Parts: sequence; structure tokens; C-alpha cells
Amino acid sequence: MKIKTILAAATAVIALSSAAYAEGFVGIAMPTKSSARWIADGDNMVKTLEAAGYTADLQYAEDDIPNQLAQIENMITKGVDVLVIAAIDGTTLSNALENAAAAGVKVIAYDRLIRDSGDLDYYATFDNFKVGVLQASSLVEGLKSRFGDGPYNVELFGGSPDDNNAYFFYDGAMSILQPLIDDGTVVVPSGQMGMETVGTLRWDGSVAQARMDNILSANYTNQEVHGVLSPYDGLSIGILSSLKGVGYGSGDLKMPIVSGQDAEVPSVKSILAGEQYSTIFKDTRELAKVTVGMVDAVLGGSEPEINDTSTYDNGVKVVPSFLLEPVSVDASNWEEVLIGSGYYTKDQFQ
Ligand code: BGC
Repeated sequence: MKIKTILAAATAVIALSSAAYAEGFVGIAMPTKSSARWIADGDNMVKTLEAAGYTADLQYAEDDIPNQLAQIENMITKGVDVLVIAAIDGTTLSNALENAAAAGVKVIAYDRLIRDSGDLDYYATFDNFKVGVLQASSLVEGLKSRFGDGPYNVELFGGSPDDNNAYFFYDGAMSILQPLIDDGTVVVPSGQMGMETVGTLRWDGSVAQARMDNILSANYTNQEVHGVLSPYDGLSIGILSSLKGVGYGSGDLKMPIVSGQDAEVPSVKSILAGEQYSTIFKDTRELAKVTVGMVDAVLGGSEPEINDTSTYDNGVKVVPSFLLEPVSVDASNWEEVLIGSGYYTKDQFQ
């Protein structure tokens, strides 16, 4: 081969590989489509990645752990450069991440921390402890305005015990509620406390509803429940049906104050109807932006923007993280926060 031809061929290869590198192939593993929040996350991730020139492979695993593992392995086989994972069970991915590392694939934990792995590069999420603080603060504010000075009967619900976030939400909430329990302002008549007792596997609303039914029949024949700490809108819906089922919200029985998270449309409607009291808005457009910034950095060999290097120890390493700000939403500010930011349109609530 003539030297000129060899050079031309080499230049073509370099051009090809640098084009492929600049574009980048990103696998996105999301937990489930059963909650609108994750659909918005997936959509915003794909939109933001594509706008930046990347190719995306988005998969949902319907809360089935082996399914998510298979999807991740498949993405590695397909040759992704980066994996963005919102884990179903954050403790079951160590082997998959080892395989990713062996294939030179970078890994970003999305919203939920991946535990027990040294092969995790970055973590993009919201300030999860603050989510719990906001949930409990809103609960307490609602209790005061609907039921006066107390003491208040409150029941506690936690998220899925295999989701690291669930502990942060609970601990954040208890940082507000425990002092009130200690001074007698808040009473938990069922006595059910602690994540090992109040956790709700897979964030399942029907599990929460069944547990609320049991709590009501065992503890509330002679007294009223005033508030329920719920960490997620999907659980709040189950809890509210249980409460409505025994007459709360009609006649003399005032609706208890029920918190939530994710500002999902049915729950915002419930807030407007005076049922659920509040929720937490987490702008998934912002989370996608931060995550794509991390993708840019790991592919471009630079350092992404990080604002927390101490909170998220996954059991093997403290994962460099970026924490976004959650926002508490209730009937007084929903329009300004949810419509004003362009996240929803007003006709979604008519
Ligand atoms: C997320 C929450 C969500 C919950 C249930 C958590 O990991 O951070 O926003 O409500 O999962 O899907």
C-alpha cells in the first residue's frame, strides 16, 4: 500500500473513532413506568442527551430486579460508553458494575445510590435528607393549622428498604418529628417506628394501604388519627383510600394531614381537592441536566461539577455527588412552583 493511502486510511479511522467518541452511547436503566416521575426522568434524560449529540438506550424494568440486571448486562454487551442507573434494589448491582468497569464503561447512579461497589463513578440526586425534613415540616405545619395545638396522633410510613434514599427521607423526617415525640406533642399510637418496621417494599401503594387499614382497626377505634408521614405520592394514594374507607374527610372526621413526594399529577389534584396535604417537587429536568454534565465529563476526561463529597458512603467509597434542591408544594404554592416553572401546564389540572 502506498504511504499516502495508509495515511488516508489512518486519518479516516481517527475521524471515525473521534466522531463516535464525541457522540457517545449512553445506557439508561430506569426502575418502573408505574410512576409518572420515572417516565419524566427517562424522557428528560433522552431529550437532554440527544440535544447534546449522544445516542441513548432507555430501558424500564418494571421493578423486577433480574430484569434490570439483564438490561444492564445487555447495554454493556451493546457497547455503551456510560451507564446511568436508577436502581430498583441498590444493593444487587455490584457484579454488574464490575462487568461494566472491566468493559471500560463509566457508571453514574441516578437519583438512587448504588451500594457496595467501588465501580461507581458519580451520583446525581436531590438532597434526600432535606426531602424528609420538608415532608415532616409540612406535616407539622398542617397539623397546627387543621388541628390546633396538639397533641397529635401521627402514623409513620417509610419507603422501600432496598432503596438507600428511603433511609435519608426517614432520617430527615425524624430529625423534625423525634423532638416532638419526645416532648409529647406528637404521639404514634401504633408504636410502629423505625425503618425496619415502617418500610414499604418496592414503594407499593397497596402495601401501604393494607398497613394503614391494620393500623386503623388496631389503634383507632376510640381516637382519631391527625397525620400520616408518607414519603411518596403513590403511598399517599393508598393511605388516603384507607382513611376515606373508614370515613375520614366526611362528617365530623377531618381528613388527616398526609405528606407525599414527586408532585405527580393525581396527587397534586388530590391536594387541590383538599385530600393530600403536600408533596415534594423534584425537577427531573434539572436532574437530567446535571447527569448529562457528568456524562460529558467522564467521556471528555474532565471533572464534573460536584457539590457533595461526604454524604453518600456506599459501603465501599464515598461517592462524589451533586445534590439538587427539593421544593415543598402544597395548595398555597403549587401554581407558582409547578406551573410557573413550566413543569406542568394548567390544563393538566382542569
Ligand atoms: C425517589 C423518590 C420516589 C421513590 C419511589 C425514590 O428513590 O427518590 O422520588 O418517590 O423512589 O419511586
